[in-house]
Amino acid sequence: MRNFTNSKRIAIKIGTNTLSKDGKVDSLFIRSVAEQVAELIKGGREVVIITSGAIGMGAGQLKISSYVTDIKTRQACAAVGQPLLMTEYRKAFDKFGLTCGQVLLTAEVLHNRKTYLNLKNAVETLLKLDVVPILNENDCVATDEIGTAFGDNDKLSALIASKLDADVLIMLSDIDGLYDKKPNKRNDAKLIKAVYEITSDILKNAGSKGSKFATGGMKTKIEAAKIASSAGCRIVLANGRDKNVIAKIIAGEDVGTVFMPKRKLSNRLRWLLNSAAKGTITIDDGAAEAIIKKKSLLPKGIKSVSGNFIAGDVVMLNDIAKAITNFGNDDLKKIAGKHSSEIKNILGEDKKDVVATPENIVFLDY
Ligand code: GLU
Repeated sequence: MRNFTNSKRIAIKIGTNTLSKDGKVDSLFIRSVAEQVAELIKGGREVVIITSGAIGMGAGQLKISSYVTDIKTRQACAAVGQPLLMTEYRKAFDKFGLTCGQVLLTAEVLHNRKTYLNLKNAVETLLKLDVVPILNENDCVATDEIGTAFGDNDKLSALIASKLDADVLIMLSDIDGLYDKKPNKRNDAKLIKAVYEITSDILKNAGSKGSKFATGGMKTKIEAAKIASSAGCRIVLANGRDKNVIAKIIAGEDVGTVFMPKRKLSNRLRWLLNSAAKGTITIDDGAAEAIIKKKSLLPKGIKSVSGNFIAGDVVMLNDIAKAITNFGNDDLKKIAGKHSSEIKNILGEDKKDVVATPENIVFLDY
């Protein structure tokens, strides 16, 4: 039985194919989303939308019909399409007495704790003002080449849901959910109603293809489900064209596939888990055992340090955990292998006496 009675904050991801028809935004679809969202808000929930479609809509407007792969053309299409998309959302929400706000972001914004907190504050304030935040990647400036892109909105939605503490992420797509075999190849394929663990078999069966303007396929959806579920968020993958699908999901109906969360994490640890690491601290077995037992990481257990980072940055501990380090890479190299009592002699009085505390360490696998 699914029960979303206590799910207060809901993130909804809408894919390009789901919201478009013949290269244009399907206004009736967006209107039905707005209507269902308005009902949720009336019922005391908070809703954040992660939308795709900027590139697709821009390409439609510019009459570019072939697969848009080159970065500059995608950027240009996004610049044209994003305002078209927002106009549709604005018109649709207006019909139900709601205002929506545009939030565009790059991967960098989420990975840097300061800019992430700015983003979080902005979204929290929008929600307090009963505004529906509509997020998308800032496709015009974020490119894979400079490492600022999320790559696809499936991943973006999972990171947003994790970092903004959503209780549930609804991913609306043009497929009904996850199948046990490839549904386009096997007609005995069955829809999986609930996934408790994302196994390598599930990933293998997922296939990969995205579509003309969108980037994601089933593979990116499952990877997204992995990100959100390990941060404690439930995900429901469902067909956006199913009538009143959002309302049905939140009412607990058996629609699409639900991915159950692996663990409940604090906001800080969710953020840490989903932030890019700036370097790696290689630690010995003793130190690994200690942090597993929820003890602090001490300099004694450090074998080596790689990468360029400063105190407060996110680093990997071997390949098992992420941590916020109390020291930059230069200082760590000086104290690696030393006893904690020596830190102040080597680096000065104002320094901390442990490398990372348990509340700043999160394990990747659980
Ligand atoms: N951000 C892209 C857009 O708005 C979509 C990326 C994706 O489809 O995953 O067109």
